[in-house]
Amino acid sequence: MFDLVIENGICFISGNFVESNIGITNNKIAYVGRESIKGREKINARGCLVLPGFFNAHTHSAMTILRGYAEGLPLDKWLDKVWKIEAMLDERSIYIASMLACIEMLKNGITCFSDMYIHMDSVARAVEETGIRAVLGYGMADRGSEERMEKELKIALDFIKNCENKERIKPMLTPHAIYTCSPEFLSRINDLANEMGLIKHIHASETLWEVKESKKKFGKTPIKLLDDIKFLDQRTVLAHCVWLSGDEINLIANRRTSVAHCPSSNLKLSSGIAKIAEMTENGVNVAIGTDGAASNNMLNIFSEIRLSALLQQLRKKFLSPVKYLEMATKNGYRAYGIDGGEIEKGKIADIIVVEPKIHQMPIYNYANSLVFSSNGCEVRDVIVNGKIVVEDRTPINVDDEKVVDQISKLKEKILGKA
Ligand SMILES: [Zn+2]
Repeated sequence: MFDLVIENGICFISGNFVESNIGITNNKIAYVGRESIKGREKINARGCLVLPGFFNAHTHSAMTILRGYAEGLPLDKWLDKVWKIEAMLDERSIYIASMLACIEMLKNGITCFSDMYIHMDSVARAVEETGIRAVLGYGMADRGSEERMEKELKIALDFIKNCENKERIKPMLTPHAIYTCSPEFLSRINDLANEMGLIKHIHASETLWEVKESKKKFGKTPIKLLDDIKFLDQRTVLAHCVWLSGDEINLIANRRTSVAHCPSSNLKLSSGIAKIAEMTENGVNVAIGTDGAASNNMLNIFSEIRLSALLQQLRKKFLSPVKYLEMATKNGYRAYGIDGGEIEKGKIADIIVVEPKIHQMPIYNYANSLVFSSNGCEVRDVIVNGKIVVEDRTPINVDDEKVVDQISKLKEKILGKA
């Protein structure tokens, strides 16, 4: 007898779609196969597709409060505007905005997300209450000040300590970028990550401006700078990587470093188009992220994989749609060292049930349909860590109407001060 059974679904297993039943015990997948199995709880997935949950590999969840606030600006001018508002945000506002983000992500089939921001204890609280999984880090920036370096490290390490015994939260170290963190600071963070076995996550080579500034200031590109201080390894995830040379792609592949590709944000902030086809062909583990809602404006992996595939096709680079589904699922889990993202015995039970809709009919190929014809409204049920957290499109741990009311009031308060 399993705790939960998902039966009769067409499951995405090792790149194929096969009809299977899934048995879950505690938080793990305990059975995958055609036998009829019994569970204390049961989801009938007949006519539905069953996938590993999506992993949002790069976001700043509380930026939902800034959704639609700074429009039509390139990254530098956008950051000026955003940083002013961020300075006003307190623990409670970060909590409300993160609740909104977690609900939105769950409803779109995201079972785990990676987040670097401020007041991370508030983000952790939203993760715990909504039932989603997350890898969280305090976004550090020393801006060349030694005093600030110590302060930032203390905040980051205190947060990591607070994450002990939180089952669905994995803490990480997250320096913002090479233009806000000194090489000395990045080196210290690297040593700490090695000592403590932590994931490191940083924005890198997002804009041409960043690469040019890095060459001017350090005589090398951001990727070369990070490699020279031994920052690049298999526990490192680089967000964006829009401006990479062929040599840098090979270097990242050799270091087994992962990339979090965020196509909407890269277009919206005029950053560019990442060469993810070349990265994938050369063995880089590419995962998909939404970035924050202020630069997207949605927290939806379906729209990211669609855009990602379209952009590569514009470049005449055709990857199989299965590759995009893998970027959205197992590559994200792999990047962050979590044993999930696949429907396989022994893996963590983060699973979504997707019910095909009229805008997808007829379906010739499941992978094509998921990548090119889906928008997230097809996600019916969501299971995280073996527990049902969205049932028939309704998040079951939270009152979403209350959160919508709270975020609207928060917007008024912020506009009053801005
Ligand atoms: Zn970002």
